[in-house]
Amino acid sequence: MLTGTGKASYALNFLEESLGLVSGSLGSEGVARDLVDELGSVMRGSAPKDSTTPSLEARAASLLSELEKSAIEDDGFFVRKARWPGAAPLAVCLTHDVDNIERPMEHILRIRDRFDKADFQKALKGRLSLYDNIELIGKKEAAQGYRSSFYLLSANYPLEKVRPAARKLNARGWEFGLHGDFGTHDSEPEMKKAVTKLREGIGIRPRGLREHYLRFDFAESWRVMEGAGFDYDSTVGNNDRLGFKLGLAAPFHPPDESWRPMRLLELPLSLMDTTLWGYLKKGEEEGFADVMRSMAMVEEVEGLFTLLWHQEAVRMKGGRIYWRILEELGRRKELFVGTGLEVARWWRAREVPLKVANDRRLITLGARVPEGLTLVLKTRPGTKVKVTSGSVRSRVRGGKSERLVTPSGPAFKLEVSR
Ligand SMILES: [Zn+2]
Repeated sequence: MLTGTGKASYALNFLEESLGLVSGSLGSEGVARDLVDELGSVMRGSAPKDSTTPSLEARAASLLSELEKSAIEDDGFFVRKARWPGAAPLAVCLTHDVDNIERPMEHILRIRDRFDKADFQKALKGRLSLYDNIELIGKKEAAQGYRSSFYLLSANYPLEKVRPAARKLNARGWEFGLHGDFGTHDSEPEMKKAVTKLREGIGIRPRGLREHYLRFDFAESWRVMEGAGFDYDSTVGNNDRLGFKLGLAAPFHPPDESWRPMRLLELPLSLMDTTLWGYLKKGEEEGFADVMRSMAMVEEVEGLFTLLWHQEAVRMKGGRIYWRILEELGRRKELFVGTGLEVARWWRAREVPLKVANDRRLITLGARVPEGLTLVLKTRPGTKVKVTSGSVRSRVRGGKSERLVTPSGPAFKLEVSR
C-alpha cells in the first residue's frame, strides 16, 4: 500500500490495488478528477451516480484499458496482477446470516404453504427443524466442492444449540463470523461484548462480520469493526432494492477519517435473498433470473459477487432456489468460490508488490507470492517473453489474446524483449 494521506492519494492507492497495477505506477495525472471524487464520496456514504450496476468498477475497468493501451504503445507491454487465483473471471462469496434457528409452531402453521409437504409433516412430529439448516447447507455446498460463511447473532438464540454444527463445519473450512447484534454497528464496547459472547458460545473467534439488518454508519461502523480486530466486513449493500450500493464489486480497504486505508477489508454485499421476496415480491423464476443477471454484471468487471442467503429460508418457497444457484455455479469450474475469510485472505495475499525494473524490461514480485497468483500480460505482436520459475499460457478474453503468467517459486522473474 502507498502511504500518504488525502482523498486523492487514497483513491490512487485504491485503484492500484484494485486493478493489480505495478506498485507506484499510477500518478494522479492519470486518473480523472471526477473518478477520485466519486470514489471519495461513496466512501463517506453518498450513492454513486449509477447504483443499478457496478458502475465504479466499470469506470476503473475503462481506466485499466487506457493504461494498457498507452503502456503497450510506450513500452511494448502491459502487466497486472489478476484479481483472482488462476485469473478466474469471477469470484463468488457465499454467505448466510443466521437470524433465527427456530420459530414457534403457531408461526409455522400459519405459513405452512411455504414449505414442502413432507418437511412440514416431519416438523409437526418434531423430527425436523425447518429453521436450522446449517448442516443441510454445509452438506449441499460440500457436494459442489464449496464452503461458505455463516454469521451468528450473539444474543438471539442459545449459542449452544448452534455450537456442535458450527464446530464440525468450521473444522472443515466453513467460516463462522458475527452477525452484529443491535447496538454493535456504532459502539466499540458493544461490538467487543458481542465478539466475546460469540467466541465463548461456540469456541470460535469471529474474523468477519455482517451487521443485522445491514445497519451501517459510514462515520462509525468501519472504525468500530477495525477497533474490534475484524479482518473483514460484508455489510455494505442494499436492503430494499437490487444493485450495488457503492457501485463496487471487489474487496477494498475502507478509509479512516484522514483517508488512510484501514487494515480491515470491506467485501461489498452484492445481493440478498430477502430483497427479492420481502421487498420486491418477486416469484421464484424472476428471483433466480435476478441473481444470475446480477452475477453476470459482476463478471463483466472481473469482480466479487457476495451473496447473502439467509439459512432459515432454504426449505421455503423462494429460499429453496439456493440449491439451483449452487448447481449453476457448479457448472462453472473456472470460478473462485469461497468463504468471506478465504476471499479476504486471498485479497491480502495478492497485495504482494508487482515491480518493474531494468528500464522496464524485468518484472518481479515481492516475497511470499501466494499460490494461484497470476499475472496478466499483454504485449505488442512479436514481443518475446522469458519466464524463470514460472509458466505461461495464452487465453482469449473479450476477443483479445493475453498471456497468463503463473509464478512457481521465489526466484520468479519475467523478462520482456524490446
Ligand atoms: Zn439479520
